[in-house]
Amino acid sequence: MRRSHVDDKIAAMMAQLEATRPQAARRGHAASCAQKDRHPSAEAARAIALMNGMASKLEVYECEHCHAWHFTRRRKGS
Ligand SMILES: [Zn+2]
Repeated sequence: MRRSHVDDKIAAMMAQLEATRPQAARRGHAASCAQKDRHPSAEAARAIALMNGMASKLEVYECEHCHAWHFTRRRKGS
């Protein structure tokens, strides 16, 4: 069964949709981590934690999604 030109056009449109989908997913994830404080560097994040007196309670980590630095709550003891 041969594909018509219309099918080819639809296939091309679907391919375009597929190509934009991962980008939309990334944006969605970035939006969820946008709710957290984002800092340009570990030093900046630690400085904020220090100013808030939270340095002993907060840990900083580089986000794998937005590559900004976020705080995470430091786990108590062991
Ligand atoms: Zn993030």
